[in-house]
Amino acid sequence: MTVRLASFRGRAHLVVGQDDLLVDIEQVSHGLLPNDPMACFTRWDEVRSLARSVVVPGNAPKAILDTLDCPVPQPRQMFAIGVNYRKHAEEMGSTLPNNPLTFAKFQSSLNAPGGDIPIVGDTCDYESEVVAVISVGGREIAESEAWDHIAGLCAGQDISDRQLQLSGTPPQFSLGKSRRGFAPIGPWVGDVRDHPKRSDLMIGCAINGEVRQSTSTNDMIFDIPQLVSYLSTICELYPGDIIFTGTPSGVGHGRKPPVYLHPGDVIETTLEGVGTLRNRCI
Ligand code: ZN
Repeated sequence: MTVRLASFRGRAHLVVGQDDLLVDIEQVSHGLLPNDPMACFTRWDEVRSLARSVVVPGNAPKAILDTLDCPVPQPRQMFAIGVNYRKHAEEMGSTLPNNPLTFAKFQSSLNAPGGDIPIVGDTCDYESEVVAVISVGGREIAESEAWDHIAGLCAGQDISDRQLQLSGTPPQFSLGKSRRGFAPIGPWVGDVRDHPKRSDLMIGCAINGEVRQSTSTNDMIFDIPQLVSYLSTICELYPGDIIFTGTPSGVGHGRKPPVYLHPGDVIETTLEGVGTLRNRCI
């Protein structure tokens, strides 16, 4: 992992070393790089260079989950993909899609890596997901070049109000997945450009310590380069845009009988090679 970008007190920080020390990007670059995390994605190559040569100040604080802010606070676009893992398609009784099934999560649903999630009604569900963050945007991005357009990956939760998600005919997913706090991501954006297993990472989720989801991203129907390429044939992608890339099997809605989230539940979401979110339902 070459770069980990976190937001701490609203400012962009590198997370450095095994102790996860936070280094303020604007300060350590002597003002050459911005303090706004969103602006850092437009200058990702410079952030990567800084990370290679950074000297950690003696007073650097440790990154503690509950003190971190959402690492991508204002993406211009938030895409999300439904039915993108083979076993999840089975449990939801869905046929395999010919193209990525795409909906939106709206920006006001973003949440911090340790933020609380207000539960509404009796059918809120977890969906652990890999979230890809765009660095270099564009249109008509080739699959073979897609990784060069990605700053890195986050762990994410596509929290879903199933009743609202599935209420229409045909159902429209976006609002049921955009309630307050329904999109925690983080704990930071981890650069995987040089990661040998970047297409074969375990994504998992535990509720109150009980593992509910644990699957490699190699079970994806459309992998991350295919998603970036496909979306860019329709929408221009911008630096800092994020893509929720779909959830693997094991969601509460697919269990028999279904099991949903309740206030007091603790959701831990782990992406191999990146990190863990911990969100409490309230
Ligand atoms: Zn999802």
